[in-house]
This record gives sequence, C-alpha cells and structure tokens, in this order.
Amino acid sequence: MKRYIYGIDIGGTSIKFGLFDLDFKLIDKWETPTDKTDAGVHIIDDIVTAIETHTPKLDEVLGYGFGVPGPVVKHYIPVCVNLGWKDVDLPAMLKERLNNDNIFVGNDANVACLGEAFIGAGHGRRNVAMITLGTGVGTGIVVDGHILEGHNGSAGEIGHLTVAHDYPIVCNCGKTGCLETVASATGIRNIYNRRKGDHIGHSVLFDTPFPSAKEIFDAAKDGDLLALEVVDEAADYIGYACHVIGITTNPSVIVIGGGVSKAGDFLIRRIQSVYRNLAFKASIDTKIVAATLGNDAGIHGAAELVKIYG
Ligand SMILES: [Zn+2]
Repeated sequence: MKRYIYGIDIGGTSIKFGLFDLDFKLIDKWETPTDKTDAGVHIIDDIVTAIETHTPKLDEVLGYGFGVPGPVVKHYIPVCVNLGWKDVDLPAMLKERLNNDNIFVGNDANVACLGEAFIGAGHGRRNVAMITLGTGVGTGIVVDGHILEGHNGSAGEIGHLTVAHDYPIVCNCGKTGCLETVASATGIRNIYNRRKGDHIGHSVLFDTPFPSAKEIFDAAKDGDLLALEVVDEAADYIGYACHVIGITTNPSVIVIGGGVSKAGDFLIRRIQSVYRNLAFKASIDTKIVAATLGNDAGIHGAAELVKIYG
C-alpha cells in the first residue's frame, strides 16, 4: 500500500529530503551534505542511502520528485555545473534502485515556485511566478499548473533579463546589466556603490565600510535618503521584471522570495506600485506577495511533481 511521497531538493551544499503523506502533508524532513567530489558521482548513492535509511518499506513510496540547481528538460539534466553533472537521466538511474517508475525532476527555482503556488503564498493557484532574490536571482513560472521549461530549460530566467542598460556590471552569466546584478543581495550593494559618490549630505551607510543589503534596507526603513534611493531603484528593476512576466504569462500572483525579500512589505509595496504603473490593463490585478515556505519551498514543490506527472 502506498503511503508516502518524497520531495528532494538537491542543492550545491546540501540535499534536503521531505517525506510527505499522500495528502502532501510534511511528515519528516532532514538534510545531508552534497558530496560534489568526482564530478558528483556520489550524490546518487548518498540519496539512495538516505532514503533507504529513513523508509521502512520502499514499496510504500508512491513516487519521488527532485529539484536540481540547473536546467531540466522533460526530467533530463543536460548539464548541472553546481553538482558537476553532465547528461544525467536521474529517473533512469534511480528507477531500479528505488524500484519505482514515478521519478520526476525539475529545476530548483521552478520547483520552489510550484511549492509556493500550491502550498505557500499562491494558495492553490495554477498561474504563479516566483522571483527569488538571494545571492543570485532565480525565477520559476507555473502556467496552468505546469512548470514552464521552454526549448532548452531556460524559460523564464528573468534574473538575466537586461534591465540596467547603463550598468557596466558583469553578471555570473557573462552578460552585463542583468536583473541579478541589481536585485540580488550583491546587486543591492552594486546600486549603493554606484550612487554613494553622487549623494549630497550624510548617510548612516557611510558609517559602515561595506554595508550589506540588509543594512541598506534597514537604513531605508529608518528614512535614510541614500538608502531609500537604492531601494527604490532596485524596486524599479524588479517591478519591471514582474511586468515582463505579467505580460507574457499572466500569473495571478508573483511571489517574491529569498534573503532580500526579508525586507518584507517595505519592498513588496514598492514593487507592486511599479508593477501597477507599468502593467497592461488586463493583467494589472496580478498581486505581488512575499513567499511563505522559506527553504521548504523546494521539497514541497518537488513532491508536487509526483502529483502533476505521476
Ligand atoms: Zn545574467
């Protein structure tokens, strides 16, 4: 008898395991370090061992969903630099070892969006986008309940939308002016570094040699003018990116997650305002909301893969 579903979020530093019942209620969760040595060949063994250790009977598992930090096309991973993987067919590799045909894979940002769409901030909506503002900018888009993958798995990579046309900052992708260079934690500091020389008057940020994104947001909340300029500029870029998502995929909700989103309503309100000013009339009602699942979005969304594709 089937009792369980696994949602597994494979990250560059840890693998998060979520054990769910058939109603997608989280029963147990734990994580193990990601062993990336030898081109990541040990990761599969570690996953199988962790599952076997925690599950009394493997034949009670309905299926397994995985999130991985790289592009995924139809559950196939062409390349995943963060894990050292190339041409990995995870379902084929695990099918016999776990004695299960229901094994599905998605990109981690897409899978996190799926989690927020159905369990988290999306409250069961079927058209949801998510922008994760962390050390980078990740995006997931769910259309009619399905992850948008595109031709080679790069659909909706809005972190690399060119928004800062006059910024010479090079992104991790090699381009310049990407949303990631002005909206990630580093991106917030990039805007500050660009503006601080032109600022007239004092700013509390000048008291700290290298203010963090959090310190910039805190100063803005206290009314510091330079910090407010930085936050408003970042919100302009993020709001524009939401407009692009809104006009192409028409989500009912755009979820903002990641460390930068901890600035909360202060940032969300600004993004919503920019979005409404730019939005096409028919998609103006799209709501910008904060993520609610935190680091668990990935395991929830991975488990959802089993419901969608199983
Ligand atoms: Zn980029």
